[in-house]
Amino acid sequence: MEYYSNAISQLIQQLSRLPGIGQKSAQRLAFHIINMPQEQVEKLAASMTGARANVRYCKCCQTLTDQELCPICSNPRRDHSVIMVVENPRDMAAYEKTGKFEGVYHVLHGAISPMMGIGPDDIRLKELMQRLQSDVSEVIIATNSSLEGETTAMYISRLIKPTGIKVSRIASGVPVGGDLEYIDEVTLLRALEGRVDL
Ligand code: ZN
Repeated sequence: MEYYSNAISQLIQQLSRLPGIGQKSAQRLAFHIINMPQEQVEKLAASMTGARANVRYCKCCQTLTDQELCPICSNPRRDHSVIMVVENPRDMAAYEKTGKFEGVYHVLHGAISPMMGIGPDDIRLKELMQRLQSDVSEVIIATNSSLEGETTAMYISRLIKPTGIKVSRIASGVPVGGDLEYIDEVTLLRALEGRVDL
């Protein structure tokens, strides 16, 4: 890429390190940025460093937030006795968009994958088990229907069963291998309403 000036090459290289951004997209974005008003570029850069510096994990559900507790965990109108377990904050957002789930969440930040060497200790399971010490009536497992998601669901249900707390799994309206975040709201709701006891 020696035909670009060093500053542009640097920008393209940094952008291409982002997920889903190949060389072509990185070039397109770089030239877009260069043509943006200076003030807008500064806002973009500041919001990136600001988010990185201030975002942390919610003390309760482990989602990303800039407060000690996220808005959902600190909302007294939510039903704190029903916990939906999801793999990542994007899945949580997908369910929030349906506007129909009144419980709270637990974000695992991943799924168990023996193939990738990701074990139960590598996701936020310990934190979930700690939450079960308080008043919890149901845990709804809404991990993806991939092999990893199913493995994780099975593992969690085995952990929770002995506590006597009700464990359910969202219905299979969610296509196999499907990422929750790409599924439409109607399908998500149907999956939630049709959940089955484990
Ligand atoms: Zn939270």
